Amino acid sequence: MGKECSAKIIGIARHRIATDGEGVTTLVGFWGCPLRCQYCLNPQSLKEGEHFQTYTPAELYEKVKIDQIYFLATNGGITFGGGEPLLHPNFLHEFRELCGPQWNITLETSLNVPLEHLQRANEAVDNYIVDIKEMDPEIYKRYTGKENHRVFENLKWLVENTDPASILVRIPLIPDFNTEEENQKSEAFIRQMGIEKIDRFLYKKEIHKLV
Ligand code: SF4
Repeated sequence: MGKECSAKIIGIARHRIATDGEGVTTLVGFWGCPLRCQYCLNPQSLKEGEHFQTYTPAELYEKVKIDQIYFLATNGGITFGGGEPLLHPNFLHEFRELCGPQWNITLETSLNVPLEHLQRANEAVDNYIVDIKEMDPEIYKRYTGKENHRVFENLKWLVENTDPASILVRIPLIPDFNTEEENQKSEAFIRQMGIEKIDRFLYKKEIHKLV
C-alpha cells in the first residue's frame, strides 16, 4: 500500500473523557475484524452493507482535527477501535504523519494479527488497550472462532519493544465461556510478562457503542 490507502469507518465519537485513553479523545471505529466473538461489542464492524464511510487518512484528519485544542490541552487524541485497527497499519502510519507527534494515539485491539502489522503500526501508536478475551486456547477458539497463539507472541513483542506502562490489558469475564478462576490465571500470567495495567471486567454490550 502506498500513500493512497483508505479504510472503512463505522463511526466517530467525539469528546470522550476517561473512557478509552488519556484526556479528551475521539473514538474512530474501523470496519472489519479477524475474529467472530460470540458477544461482539460492535456487530456493525462485521456486517456487510453500506453502514460505513470510506476515508483516506487525510479525510479523517480533516474531520477530527476540529478537536485539536482539546487534545493538546488534555494530552488526549484519537483512539482507534473497531473492528480491528491493526488491520490498517499503513493508514495509521499516514494518519500519524498528518496529525504530528503531539496527539496521543491509542489502539483498542485484540492483537490477533500478523506481527508485521503490529511492527508497522507501532511507530504511530502511543498506547494500547488489549482485549485479551481468554488465555485458554480452547475457550478462546470457542468464543472467537480463532486460535490465540499470535496474541501472546504479539504481546511479548510489545513488552520487549515498547514501554510496558503504555499497555493496558483488559481481561473480560465472559458469561458462559470463562470463570473468575480463569481470569485470575490470565492476570497472573500477564503480570509475569511485566504488564501492570490490568483491567478485569464483565462484558457488557453497550460499552463501545458508537454514535
Ligand atoms: S474483536 Fe471486537 S469487533 Fe472483533 S468480533 Fe470480537 S468483539 Fe467484535
